Amino acid sequence: TAPGSTVGNSAASRDKAFVLHPYTNLHAHETQGPLIIERGEGVHVFDDGGKDYIEGMASLWCVSLGWGEERLVQAAAKQMRQLSSYHIFGHKSHEPGIDLAERLIGLAPVPMSKVFFANSGSEANDTAIKLIWYYSNALGRPEKKKILSRQRAYHGVTVATASLTGLPNNHRDFDLPIARIIHGDCPHHYRNAHEGESEEAFATRLAEQLEALILAEGPDTIAAMFAEPVMGAGGVVVPPATYFAKIQPVLKKYDILLVADEVICGFGRTGNFWGSQTMGMQPDILTCAKQLSSGYLPISAVMVSDAVYRACVEESRKIGTFGHGYTYSAHPVAAAVALETLKIYEERDIVGHVRSIAPAFQSRLKALAEHPLVGEARGIGLIGAVELVADKATKTPFDPVGRAGAVVNGLTQDNGLIVRAMGDSIALCPPLVITEAEVHETFDRLTKALDAAVPVLRG
Ligand code: PLP
Repeated sequence: TAPGSTVGNSAASRDKAFVLHPYTNLHAHETQGPLIIERGEGVHVFDDGGKDYIEGMASLWCVSLGWGEERLVQAAAKQMRQLSSYHIFGHKSHEPGIDLAERLIGLAPVPMSKVFFANSGSEANDTAIKLIWYYSNALGRPEKKKILSRQRAYHGVTVATASLTGLPNNHRDFDLPIARIIHGDCPHHYRNAHEGESEEAFATRLAEQLEALILAEGPDTIAAMFAEPVMGAGGVVVPPATYFAKIQPVLKKYDILLVADEVICGFGRTGNFWGSQTMGMQPDILTCAKQLSSGYLPISAVMVSDAVYRACVEESRKIGTFGHGYTYSAHPVAAAVALETLKIYEERDIVGHVRSIAPAFQSRLKALAEHPLVGEARGIGLIGAVELVADKATKTPFDPVGRAGAVVNGLTQDNGLIVRAMGDSIALCPPLVITEAEVHETFDRLTKALDAAVPVLRG
C-alpha cells in the first residue's frame, strides 16, 4: 500500500479497504473481514495461516477435479503459447472453440444443433433469453415472449437472469424482476407439499398449478420455461418423483420451450452426465458452465435444438447480423481447458466415480436427518443440503431466518470444512473426485459443527 496510507498491510485489512464483495452482506463484512484462501490441493484449500479445509462446495459448485490438476495447467499453458486470445465474431473461428462445440454436441442429452459460448452461467442464461425472444420473432409471434421460472430458482445475476432467479435478495432494491418474467411454484416437497401428500401427488398438483398459471397469463404470451434439474442456490431442492414427466407435457401442449439450466448439475454432479438425464428432461435449450472447465477458467455454453437454430438463421437472413456475443465467447484458452476437462472426465469415468461414491455421501447426509437441529436432509449424487429448523415436528424455522445457517457455517469453518449456508440450508457439493474416506471426513467435521451449534441455537 502507498506510504502514509492508514490501511494495514495484511491481506485482510487491504481486502476491507479495497474490495467490494459479490454476494456478501456488505455491512457484516466491514467488521468480520475475509477468510483469505491461499492455495489448494485435491479437495483441500489452505488459508493464509496454513489451516486446512475440505472444500465441501468445490468453491462455488464448480471445481470438479479438485485443486492442482496439472493437466489443466498444461492445457492452458500450451494454448497460451499458441494463440493466447482471439474472438469468433463474424466469420472468424479457431480450433479450440470448434473442438469444444463438437464435443458438447456429441455429449448432449438430447439432439442439439449448435453451441454458443459465453463466460459465466449468468451470461449463458441471458443469452438463452435473447435466443428465445429472437426465436419468437423469427416465428412471427412477437407476443410470445414471457418466460416462466420458479420461486427459489437461481439462474444468475444479470438484469434479466436475476429476474429469472426466484430469490428475494436478487429482486429487492434492484427494481426487479423485469416485465415478462413469471415465477411459478417451487417443487420442494418438505416445505410445499400438503400434509400426507405423496411426491407423485405433489408433482401432479404442481403440473396442474403450472397449467393454471399458463392459462391465466395466456398461453400465446409464454415462450419458455427455465428449470434447474436440481435447484442449487435455492437450497438444493430435488424435485419430487415424476415432476418433469408431468410438467413437460403441459409445456408441449402450449408450445413452450424448456431450458435446462445445467450450470450446477451438468458434468456428473447428479450421477449421470447431465441432470436432464437424471430427471428425465428433454430440453430445447441447455445452458452449462462451472464444471465445464472444472472452474479453472471462466467459460459457459448454450446448446440449442435444430428447430430453434433454424428459425434464428431465418430471422438473421431477414434482418442481418445476430446482434449478440461476448468478446471472450469461446476464448481459446478457456476452451482448451474445458476440452482437457472433458477428456479427463471420460478417461477417469467421472460419472462412474460419482455413482460409486454417492451411496456413502447420501447415506451420511440422510443420517443427519436424525440430528436435533435438522428438519430435512436432501440430495442426490454428490450434492445435498440439510435444512436447520427450530422445531422438527412443526418444521418451524429459526427466527430470524439465516441466523442458524450463519452459526453452523462459522462452526463448520472452525472445524476445517467449507460449506455454503443458503438461509438455514447448509449445502454440500464437493469436488467430484472426492474419495469415500474424504466423504466420511467431511461428514465427521459437519456433524461436529452441528453438535457445537446445539447449545448456541437452543441456548
Ligand atoms: N445457473 C445456476 C443453476 C447457478 O447455480 C448459477 C451460479 O451459481 C448461475 C446460473 C449463474 O452462474 P454465474 O455465477 O457463473 O454467472
